[in-house]
Amino acid sequence: MAIQFACPGCQQPIEVDDTWAQRQVACPYCRRTITAPAASTIEPGALHQASPLREVTASTASPAPPGWATGPSEGSTAGRGVATAALALALAALALCVASKILIRTHLPEIQPMLESVEPGTDILTMQKKWIEHFESQGGIPGWMIALPWMLLGSFCLWLPGLICAILGVRHPAGRNRAVAALVLCAIVPVLTCCIM
Ligand SMILES: [Zn+2]
Repeated sequence: MAIQFACPGCQQPIEVDDTWAQRQVACPYCRRTITAPAASTIEPGALHQASPLREVTASTASPAPPGWATGPSEGSTAGRGVATAALALALAALALCVASKILIRTHLPEIQPMLESVEPGTDILTMQKKWIEHFESQGGIPGWMIALPWMLLGSFCLWLPGLICAILGVRHPAGRNRAVAALVLCAIVPVLTCCIM
């Protein structure tokens, strides 16, 4: 059986299932946390279902789980979260990309003769073999050369989810600026990566 009562915060008539009697619920109108009475205090009329409290507490911490109805405040919280995640991922991807570029610039004198030693039409495997021989003659493959492909891979692994989050975030009004900034950063990363090559 349902309990009907007026929200003490906004006075709107609301209804909860009797399993929520004397427990905390969220008002669907003002989103205030209120305690449902043990029994109905008003006559049934045009009533709206009050949402269980856990829906509200969950939505303030993280996006509402699927299946839960999302109100405007929950949607904006999720939108802002997605936009922030997009910006953080895009910034991290860009940072790794810039770091790779700096690494290549610093070691350009070592890379240049390697690139020049490759005759046109040489396949990748022969090229790799030649380079490995070159480094072995100099006492092993340097750490930066091992780190470089991992940095580029890491940059891509951050960039892709960042781009997806940015596209999702742009659809929410809350945090749209952040999502647009993330999109711009996501556009810079591939351009920068191509300039490295
Ligand atoms: Zn209310």
